[in-house]
Amino acid sequence: MSNTPESVLVGSLQKFSVEDGPGIRTTIFMKGCPLRCKWCHNPELIDPQQQLIKSPNNCIGCGYCVKVCPRGAVTMIAEKGVVIDREKCDVCLACANECYAQALRPVAKLMTIDEILCIAEQDKGFYDNTEGGITVSGGEILMHAEIVSQLIDEAGKRGINVCIDTSGFGDSQALMEMARKENVTNILYDMKSIDDEIHSAYTGVSNHLIIENLKMLAADISIVDKLIMRMPLIKGVNDSDAIIKRTGELYREIGVKRVNLLPYHSLGISKKRNVGGMQEEFEQPTEERLTEIESYFKNEINLKVEILGRV
Ligand code: SF4
Ligand code: SF4
Repeated sequence: MSNTPESVLVGSLQKFSVEDGPGIRTTIFMKGCPLRCKWCHNPELIDPQQQLIKSPNNCIGCGYCVKVCPRGAVTMIAEKGVVIDREKCDVCLACANECYAQALRPVAKLMTIDEILCIAEQDKGFYDNTEGGITVSGGEILMHAEIVSQLIDEAGKRGINVCIDTSGFGDSQALMEMARKENVTNILYDMKSIDDEIHSAYTGVSNHLIIENLKMLAADISIVDKLIMRMPLIKGVNDSDAIIKRTGELYREIGVKRVNLLPYHSLGISKKRNVGGMQEEFEQPTEERLTEIESYFKNEINLKVEILGRV
């Protein structure tokens, strides 16, 4: 199962988000991303196709999944519980449909724009009182540029503001068109590493297009103040003085005013395992280092800085 022209695979709709842009928001997480960040905290949203995900703690050991699987892909192993042979599994979801305990379920649901906005609209009063709205996130939204653009327009008709969350790795024109829309009030723009060698090694893609797209957005006076830079900080990978300084200099040069620092957390490791993969564990910078980085952006570059996502 994958996207259609009218619908998109949505991993989750998270209500009352307070770290995905200003105010109270509903965040829509779409499935599919062209990057392969080694620390990804939503690895179940990388593959643009539907996937089967396990929640092993929910399993009651009834064995229905083993019985219904037409491909013999499910086995119950003592001490390990339910094991899925991902080579055999074709994601027919027969097992998930039988699993009342929700220990097996699809990662995402195919949703139309109207279905998404009907849920989001339930909290419109909160958005209006807090300068919030919806945040369209991923995965990478530029993989679904057409439907995201329609979603933004339809949200506008319903009086809802939108924040877009992007890695910047995608079609420049589509990004520009989204960014210019009047009801797009904020753009969360990732900066994973300004050093291209590190960026390529840890995300699987060069940062050239990402930096070019960032400069393009920042050069437009109707857009620059919408930008909020988002920096995942991984100890020993992208938190060195040299990288932080080069990043700050770029921000000063292009005139962005806000940055969110996102210290690494390991929540992606179990999610990756539950969709049948493995993720390396990294470390979070120390509190002392985070404070140094925060002070640098605040005092040297004159940015508004927030540290988010602490767990
Ligand atoms: S159907 Fe669900 S609860 Fe039953 S054994 Fe399979 S995974 Fe566990
Ligand atoms: S989704 Fe995979 S494991 Fe589940 S029944 Fe279908 S083929 Fe078997």
